[in-house]
Amino acid sequence: MIKTMKAAVLEQFHHELKIKEIPIPTPQRGEVLIKVRASGLCGTDLHIQEGRLATVKVPYVPGHETAGEVWKLGEDVTGFEIGDRVIVAIDILCNTCRFCTTGRGNLCSKLIRLGFERNGGHEEYMVAPADNLLKIGNNVPFEKAAIIPDAVACMYHAIKNQAQVRATDRICILGIGGLGFQGIQIAKHFGAEIFCTSRNDKKLEIAKKYGADHVVNTSKQNLYDVVEEITSGEMCDAVFDNIGINSSVQTGLDICRPGGKVIMVGYCEDTFCAEFQSTAMKEKEIIGIRGSNRRDLVETIRLVEKGILDPYIYKTYDLDEINLALADLKTGKSLGRTVLKL
Ligand SMILES: [Zn+2]
Ligand SMILES: [Zn+2]
Repeated sequence: MIKTMKAAVLEQFHHELKIKEIPIPTPQRGEVLIKVRASGLCGTDLHIQEGRLATVKVPYVPGHETAGEVWKLGEDVTGFEIGDRVIVAIDILCNTCRFCTTGRGNLCSKLIRLGFERNGGHEEYMVAPADNLLKIGNNVPFEKAAIIPDAVACMYHAIKNQAQVRATDRICILGIGGLGFQGIQIAKHFGAEIFCTSRNDKKLEIAKKYGADHVVNTSKQNLYDVVEEITSGEMCDAVFDNIGINSSVQTGLDICRPGGKVIMVGYCEDTFCAEFQSTAMKEKEIIGIRGSNRRDLVETIRLVEKGILDPYIYKTYDLDEINLALADLKTGKSLGRTVLKL
């Protein structure tokens, strides 16, 4: 039996990951060994590499969007069989804190995350608690399934729970990309009219293909003017800031109607700047979002299985190409979510 496996190890911050041969981990009580088939790459992988997440300690194996097959069961695991196709929920919950007990486990005060504080999926075999596994239908390819736990479910939580988007709403996704392409389909599912922005025409073409009603290239067009004209001055009900730079929240507030919401999905810079008066006097809301809850995950899986959502993957790479894949993500060469295929 093979005792070692290939893994992409982050040994030092600000350095490339190293492909190393390391022992295949043994699942402990309540845990499962998964043969990883696909592992998604996220902007957060770059933040981790840059040492921006204080809770992440090196050396370790990143990767928090994982799909694979159940390979080996630890003691006391029930409900799973060898060969089951699964995705891996990122958050390991304490199940006792005030957030876990009130249905907001994504805010768990003792949160441990796979791919952050524990090894993730950028490796051939990964161990996860059985509680974190969710089965997926045979009709969902592993690479599409892999991005459900983060890119798809996160946008689902943002759109369904935080913005409470409904069929009468007009929404705008600022900075379409890995998450935004999933968001378009989700907002469409809830019946919204959708604006999308990018400085890249190729991304806007993809956005149209996935159902965006209006696309705006902000390097050529004035977003405010476009939204004002199309909505006859009514503006947007909710804006999703997938850019996360100092000025992008205000951009969102500007194109929001009174009482509208800006959901902070992406972050690049450490602070943002927004106007007091025009925000407070118009009762506009700035709302945070982190990950998703188990119910969101279950619902997104069902929507993908039914073909209502089709997770958009821009490109796949081999595990050996992880540094190239991360470089493509960093330089903006990747126009959408990318995934390692194992
Ligand atoms: Zn992520
Ligand atoms: Zn908790």
